[in-house]
Amino acid sequence: MKCSSCGVNIGSSQNWVEFPCPSCGKENIVRCEKCRKMVNTYKCKSCGFIGP
Ligand SMILES: [Zn+2]
Ligand SMILES: [Zn+2]
Repeated sequence: MKCSSCGVNIGSSQNWVEFPCPSCGKENIVRCEKCRKMVNTYKCKSCGFIGP
């Protein structure tokens, strides 16, 4: 499992979230704690949507 924003492996971390893409709902977005706090952007691999 990797963070969709920074690409860090979050297998050992517990503070991360997974949610479906707000645009297409097909792709699961994964964000680590750091990227949630920094409000880093993520990109959906399926539709190219860039969030938060
Ligand atoms: Zn991250
Ligand atoms: Zn999408």
